[in-house]
Amino acid sequence: MSAPARRPLIAGNWKMNKTAAEAGRFASELLQEVGRVSDRDVAVFPPFTALPAVAGVLRGSAIGYGGQNVHWERSGAFTGEVAAGFLSELGCRYVLVGHSERRGLFCENDADCGRKVRAAVAAGLEPVLCCGETLAEREAGQTFAVVDRQLAAALAGLETTAFTVAYEPVWAIGTGRTATPAQAEEVHRHVRDWLSAHLSPLAAGTVRILYGGSVKPDNVSELLEKPDVDGALVGGASLEIGPFCRIVNFVRR
Ligand code: PEP
Repeated sequence: MSAPARRPLIAGNWKMNKTAAEAGRFASELLQEVGRVSDRDVAVFPPFTALPAVAGVLRGSAIGYGGQNVHWERSGAFTGEVAAGFLSELGCRYVLVGHSERRGLFCENDADCGRKVRAAVAAGLEPVLCCGETLAEREAGQTFAVVDRQLAAALAGLETTAFTVAYEPVWAIGTGRTATPAQAEEVHRHVRDWLSAHLSPLAAGTVRILYGGSVKPDNVSELLEKPDVDGALVGGASLEIGPFCRIVNFVRR
């Protein structure tokens, strides 16, 4: 039996950029430019404060949106946190979990990521679990071990296949230093093998594995040519409509 085709997903992570008004305008432009693409999925991750404005434009459209983070509890005394149910109420389809900036700057650990993935799934969201090694870890030959540890903590025992993995080598994020297509494919293949061995062959065949780290209009096609690269998580280049739409409209050569 041949493997099921995976629909590419191009997602923009806006990080701490764009006011609600700016995000709403961007969402309207995005809808106009790429709202009718039918052979790929598109999504944006605005700051929490901009989600209602983005939802006002994109809800019910083909373009998805989601939160950049989530807490695992449903409510309570957790100042500054946002529950998964609050995101689903706004029509979010996705939520980022374990972005390297959350792990590195805000001390999020592997166990936290596991709790967040489960809370997201319970609320009907599709978690996008970010994983990836630092430069020091890569140079020490620990890339696979780091990714395995992050996957195991976040995904072990998960019964759904409604989630996405984003491989984002930390040394490639915001640095202009993109992984080569061969480097990306090597880790994506490894992640897929991990999914097969630890979850199921179905998960390995259906779960999308995105690449993230300095994706630009001129390198997206060569990355997405690789068989296990199912899309891109885009930071800096998702902040302007022109470059982001060129990435969304990538052509597999
Ligand atoms: C990211 O923040 O997830 C990211 C990949 O950023 P950039 O594209 O700017 O490297």
